[in-house]
Amino acid sequence: GKDNNNKNSIQFYSQSLQDASLHIIELEKELRDAIKYHQFELYLQPIVNLEQNSIYKAEALIRWNHPEKGLISPIQFIPEAEKSELINAIGHWVIKSACELVKQLNKHGYNIKISINLSPSQVIEENLFSFIHNCIKEYNIEPDLLEFEVTEGVLVNDYAIAEKLLSKIRAIGMSVSVDDFGTGYSSLAYLKRLPLDFVKIDQSFVKDIVVDDNDKAIVRAVIAMAHNLNLGVTAEGVETVEQLKFLKNNACNSVQGYLYSRPINFESFLKLIKEFY
Ligand code: C2E
Ligand code: MG
Ligand code: MG
Ligand code: MG
Repeated sequence: GKDNNNKNSIQFYSQSLQDASLHIIELEKELRDAIKYHQFELYLQPIVNLEQNSIYKAEALIRWNHPEKGLISPIQFIPEAEKSELINAIGHWVIKSACELVKQLNKHGYNIKISINLSPSQVIEENLFSFIHNCIKEYNIEPDLLEFEVTEGVLVNDYAIAEKLLSKIRAIGMSVSVDDFGTGYSSLAYLKRLPLDFVKIDQSFVKDIVVDDNDKAIVRAVIAMAHNLNLGVTAEGVETVEQLKFLKNNACNSVQGYLYSRPINFESFLKLIKEFY
């Protein structure tokens, strides 16, 4: 408030700013070490195809096994990493590791697609496509077992670059989904013109879908629109049987959420799919 505008509070403010930038520098160093010392791990969360009742896909979600602080969630370090070129190094690690997991799944007899989150700055990274292409060749995996998730913002802000990248991705058989759909700024014109395969309805619309008529209307409209544009629809954050029922009744194609499973490590994921089949 106005009353705090005295010398003490200004001093306090600049002190905390200094703390914050110190913290960021430390975090950057720690993130570099995290790659070097193999502290990152990809968890997998199943995505269930409602037509076939099968786990046909899984989203790769990064976790940081910090030597002192334990398991750290991506929301605590990905936004920070996105402020520097560190996100590209982490992103490369994620892509390589996802290819490795596809390969491991193949060895166990499963053809399950893995979906990889791309940060906006990765989309505009110059050699991203060749990096992905090289990984596919190195691990000798089928391109149709990889998918990339991008958010609406990048489709609008860097339309031309995004269009080029996504076209190349789809040209060799990989797929593309729009993540957190409905929370960013996008126009329907972009959805129509861009090379896409799936729309992932953000969990904020799914949360109250059983009780909130507005959310019901929004989700129905998104599903109808996506289908008219020949896109599949995945609902995120499905936690209850009632939510699942609504989504099934409204022709949603696939679901992801705690109802089926939280994101889990590879070993647990293998166990889960063995039980599911
Ligand atoms: P996202 O891509 O939208 O991923 C879905 C998030 O929703 C995950 O959080 C997942 O654990 C959570 N979730 C799934 N089902 C449910 C549910 O039923 N209820 C609730 N409440 N939550 C559910 P997580 O793993 O903490 O990841 C958060 C975000 O961090 C991701 O959101 C994504 O934006 C980012 N992220 C995670 N891994 C990566 C990565 O490898 N690269 C990049 N660039 N971003 C990543
Ligand atoms: Mg995602
Ligand atoms: Mg999402
Ligand atoms: Mg999200």
